[in-house]
Amino acid sequence: MRYTEYLLPTLKETPADAEVVSHRLMLRAGLIRKVAAGIYNYLPLGLRSLRKVEQIVREEMNRAGAHELLMPMVVPAELWQESGRWQQYGRELLRFKDRKEADFCLGPTHEEVITDIVRHEVRSYRQLPLNLYQIQTKFRDEIRPRFGLMRGREFIMKDAYSFDLDDAGADAAYERMYQAYRRIFQRCGLNFRAVEADTGNIGGSSSHEFMVLAESGEDAIVSCDSCEYAANVEKAELRAPATDEPTPTEGLKKVLTPARKSVEEVAAFLNTSPQKLVKTLIVQTDKGETLAVLLRGDRELNDIKLCRLLDCAWVEMAGEEVVLKATGAPSGFAGPVGLKLRILADREVQGLADFITGANEKDAHFTGVNLGRDFAVEAFADLRKAVAGDACPRCEGRLQIWRGIEVGHVFKLGTKYSEALNAVVLDDQGRERVLVMGCYGIGIGRTLASAIEQNHDADGIIWPLPIAPFEVLVVMLNPNDAEVKAAAEQLYAELLGEGVEVLLDDRDERPGAKFKDADLLGIPLRVTVGARGLKDGQVELKERAGGAVAMLATVKAAEDIAARLRSARVHG
Ligand code: ATP
Ligand code: MG
Repeated sequence: MRYTEYLLPTLKETPADAEVVSHRLMLRAGLIRKVAAGIYNYLPLGLRSLRKVEQIVREEMNRAGAHELLMPMVVPAELWQESGRWQQYGRELLRFKDRKEADFCLGPTHEEVITDIVRHEVRSYRQLPLNLYQIQTKFRDEIRPRFGLMRGREFIMKDAYSFDLDDAGADAAYERMYQAYRRIFQRCGLNFRAVEADTGNIGGSSSHEFMVLAESGEDAIVSCDSCEYAANVEKAELRAPATDEPTPTEGLKKVLTPARKSVEEVAAFLNTSPQKLVKTLIVQTDKGETLAVLLRGDRELNDIKLCRLLDCAWVEMAGEEVVLKATGAPSGFAGPVGLKLRILADREVQGLADFITGANEKDAHFTGVNLGRDFAVEAFADLRKAVAGDACPRCEGRLQIWRGIEVGHVFKLGTKYSEALNAVVLDDQGRERVLVMGCYGIGIGRTLASAIEQNHDADGIIWPLPIAPFEVLVVMLNPNDAEVKAAAEQLYAELLGEGVEVLLDDRDERPGAKFKDADLLGIPLRVTVGARGLKDGQVELKERAGGAVAMLATVKAAEDIAARLRSARVHG
């Protein structure tokens, strides 16, 4: 490719509305352009990298025995009504009518469509196992599209769906996808973790999210510093604290804490540490219940765990009015003693004695509070958020906390969709069996953006070779110098002849501007052809990652570079 014939609009300025580095660099390096909120053009250079990610995904899916097909983006409402999701799915589902007033949606995911295919085309256990996938544009009307391709409304996803006769088959399919995902993200050059994820109320029993570790990640994950355990913070189990039966030594005593509401304020005022406090959260559920949850003062509630315990969809902190009504005091002074609400507590509270709580009275707290003697708890459970340094639930290690970007998701679905759409096959006894399904997604654009989050410096992108838009950039220093021009053209032709993906910067620009763009674009190898080097029969090779420089004999340069690339592809 010749730069002068290409559409490669690089930007010097940092675009104002781009908050994360991958978004900034994708705009600056001319990979994407915004059309509307969460909707992008993929410019030629961006599309090249996107296609590389797709190709890696495709190869690994095929290797794992999945078969590619392509479903429509526009889906009739009937299928979604059959599964019940037409009603359940929120406003992320873009619904519309055609000219005959029939309802349609843009597919945000394709469980219904694929299950419809399989229920019509698959009749016998002999046709199983089956795993079908597509790489296709999805639409989700995200409430807050942001970070460029990271959270778009229109985005490209690989979605695969497995169909098996029984649970054991479905588990094997899941395991194959899990391994394929590991290979895919390794090949993309990403530092990632596969973490146990919450299965939410979608149903299904096992789920892993593939998380790329990056500061800008929207998810918090924990991982053990000595074993393989990793989980979304929402799901992270905590080891039950080793608690001795607490022995109360103090009597219950009311103390004045004027205008001290927060745990920190009260602890400082009473000259003690937050760990000596037990905080009482007044919580409301979607089922209309108001209840109290006790946590050690320095801990935070994990509302997903609470929802699971209560079997409800969401919980929220009660507003001022509800707190006043439930406790008789403004918020900041709630406590379990004398409280007329159901009380749940985090397991850690079970081991505490002589602690401090609110007194359900404005400007007052109790000290010397003790379980059993002063109040009763209905149940103790794991309700708090994990923090760095917590004990690993699986081994003697300690948990670390990371930020992560979810690039892929494997999910054992079970029979939710096959039951709803009646996707059955006959087994070897001639009995009808409901198919057991799994679904497996990878965000193609998000994977690309994550790779940039992990591979860049102050000057620009540093592409991992397997997903770089080009492998080599040949910089023709002065196109007006006939000798330089001829040498650069020849090298370009030779590299193409070697099967190398090469971009020739043949623009009539200052060297400084060309080098700046080279760093911004992040193509792994840069070869500079200039008058000074040519005098010694040499061109300069520079690696974008690490910056190592070598002089190559002009006559052997193409061959050398091709050899380097071959060995990088094998060992990379
Ligand atoms: P998130 O929690 O980030 O909204 P999700 O869990 O809803 O994502 P899935 O339904 O699991 O997403 O979709 C599979 C994959 O598709 C995700 O792992 C992610 O890589 C990608 N993806 C999902 N939503 C978006 C989006 N709005 N923009 C870009 N990629 C997305
Ligand atoms: Mg997900």
